[in-house]
Amino acid sequence: MIGSKLPDIGTTIFTVMSKLALDYNAINLSQGFPGFDTYPYLKDLVEEFINQGYNQYAPMSGVPELKSRIASKVLNLHDVEFDPEDEVTVVSGATEALYAAVTATVRRGDEVIILEPAYDSYAPAVRLNGGIPVFVPLNIPDFSVDWQKVKDAITEKTRLIMVNTPHNPCGYVWTQEDLDQLAEITRDKEIYFVSDEVYEHIVFDGRKHLPLLSHPELREKTFSCGSFGKTFHITGWKIGYCLAPKPLSVEFRKIHQFLTFSTSTPMQYALAEFLEDPSRYLFLDQFYQEKRDLFCNGLKQTAFRFTPTRGSFFQIVSYAHLSEERDYDLAVRMTKEIGVASIPVSVFYHDNKDHKLLRFCFAKGNDILEEALGKLQKLTF
Ligand code: PMP
Ligand code: GLN
Repeated sequence: MIGSKLPDIGTTIFTVMSKLALDYNAINLSQGFPGFDTYPYLKDLVEEFINQGYNQYAPMSGVPELKSRIASKVLNLHDVEFDPEDEVTVVSGATEALYAAVTATVRRGDEVIILEPAYDSYAPAVRLNGGIPVFVPLNIPDFSVDWQKVKDAITEKTRLIMVNTPHNPCGYVWTQEDLDQLAEITRDKEIYFVSDEVYEHIVFDGRKHLPLLSHPELREKTFSCGSFGKTFHITGWKIGYCLAPKPLSVEFRKIHQFLTFSTSTPMQYALAEFLEDPSRYLFLDQFYQEKRDLFCNGLKQTAFRFTPTRGSFFQIVSYAHLSEERDYDLAVRMTKEIGVASIPVSVFYHDNKDHKLLRFCFAKGNDILEEALGKLQKLTF
């Protein structure tokens, strides 16, 4: 029998809950993906490039036009320069970027600090590289970082810290104080950062997304991972990117070239052209804030307790005051009985710690959100 390298891991919760939603004809607010289509112009561009014959391998590190546009975006938004040729790499989704960055960094026996709850791909990527995940819980209920706990978790073996802002599933958005604290506790140590910033353009209430690369000290040791999936409603295209200083990018590319080698050619050309107009991603904050507000207004009429999310397209709700039921059981029951699928937050903890929280994705049409809210308002415990 094949010996499993991940014996305790099954199929991801996103696949499980989306299938359950389908089986029970429930509204799917579980897996995070937009319930609406991408832009007709972007689709036309892909078609155009396919018809023009851009159908063979793209350059390994990405098409130059797209790398330049990504570098310009970061320069314009955060006033930080990256050399598109050597420091920007286009990959097949942020999942690949995260995996390649972890693989480039983590050696057998290295420790990697993961702040929990955490996106589900981090710990397996660390373990498959022989690393040891060291889990540090975020503060409940606001999911801010407990810097004393992070500091206490650092040892001689710490090689990497995984960062995620805006945060999935909790929506916490890092502040300047968080960046400064991270710099402070890692100063003069050979500790790297993989920063997952796929929700960089979805931040609410006038907050500003602060990437790790905007901090001069952190920038030198950061692999900054992004994705066009959330930004242009194209999660199915799987186009992501990694910005990192040249010495880090060199190692990153050594992994990327043997994971996928290169990423879809016509889509890269189309995205390069589409990125020409910054308003196409700058309006996203407002677009999703309206959906968050609609969803949160409706949630007030339910039995759940919640604080409106600060970023991402996820809203966390608590039912701790209502029931002892396990979050996983409740999520399954709600899918079957009232027809709304969600994600139990315990799946984002290595030990499945159950704080009685559910995650809803509100990246859906307003009519779908209204319908889901109507069902949730009828839910009794
Ligand atoms: N990181 C986080 C926090 C996510 O929510 C997701 C899912 N979009 C990813 C990474 C993976 O992104 P991609 O689909 O581009 O691989
Ligand atoms: N990122 C999405 C979420 O958190 C799902 C991605 C996936 O299905 N792997 O729901």
